[in-house]
Amino acid sequence: TKYVVVSGGVISGIGKGIIASSAGLLLETLGLTVTAIKIDPYLNIDAGTLSPLDHGEVYLLDDGGEVDLDLGNYERYLGLTLTRDNNITTGKIYKAVIDRERRGDYLGKTVQVVPHITNEIQDWIERVSKIPNPKTNLPSDVCMIELGGTVGDIESAPFIEAMRQFQFKVGQDNFCLIHVSLVPVVGAVGEQKTKPTQASVRDLRGLGLSPDIIACRSTLPFESGIREKLSMFCQVPESNIFSVHDCQSLYHVPIVLESQGFLEILASRLKIDIPSIPKPLS
Ligand code: ADP
Repeated sequence: TKYVVVSGGVISGIGKGIIASSAGLLLETLGLTVTAIKIDPYLNIDAGTLSPLDHGEVYLLDDGGEVDLDLGNYERYLGLTLTRDNNITTGKIYKAVIDRERRGDYLGKTVQVVPHITNEIQDWIERVSKIPNPKTNLPSDVCMIELGGTVGDIESAPFIEAMRQFQFKVGQDNFCLIHVSLVPVVGAVGEQKTKPTQASVRDLRGLGLSPDIIACRSTLPFESGIREKLSMFCQVPESNIFSVHDCQSLYHVPIVLESQGFLEILASRLKIDIPSIPKPLS
């Protein structure tokens, strides 16, 4: 299984879920099977105890799991039926580790965030990504992992550290990091600003993760020079920087990404062959 991690910078609610779903959908067009895991770094075990005013509506899964709305995006974009385990929360991870501690599984050891929480996160991801995909009855070829919250938050730190370790565990060709950031237009000058993205990529690097792809949310497509500037200051090739402007329909986002050559970049990063389109018989 190959893993595509989607992190977010600058602010939350930026559109990570839509970009992760769109990337998964594009990979499916290559004939691959794709599953998805959403990480929510809150201590609630699930979204069922959250007020809809606080966190949007709760999405109900077939197995009764009460989860984040993004799981609905994944089910719709990828044609999947997900399980409650596809939504990881800090609460679920801590509960699993504390239950284990009470059972005596770590007898004699000091139980700590690193390595016990970070190992539990990695084990959970590997276990869920291996659930057979109903389309083939085999584990999915690709697992999208969306990391909720914003890079640099205290809440998401154990998950970021788990991902840092995970990239070595699964190997470079099986791990790709897409960082979703914001390119705002500020003030009277009305020009797009790259500094928030630069700062969030720096935060990410400081935590030991380097983005392979940067997807920038903005009101309008990139102005001239913005991609070059982001590339220069974030140390990511221009070809790997994507403009994801506001769309009338969220189902246009895969088209916006693909019009900039997204699939070719993602597939080559993950060493996935893009089958050539058969030529029509003359
Ligand atoms: P996150 O996963 O980062 O919290 P979501 O993917 O749930 O964010 O998106 C947050 C909101 O932004 C959603 O209501 C979604 O409709 C909207 N949104 C995301 N991407 C776009 C886009 N390209 N154009 C317009 N609205 C978008």
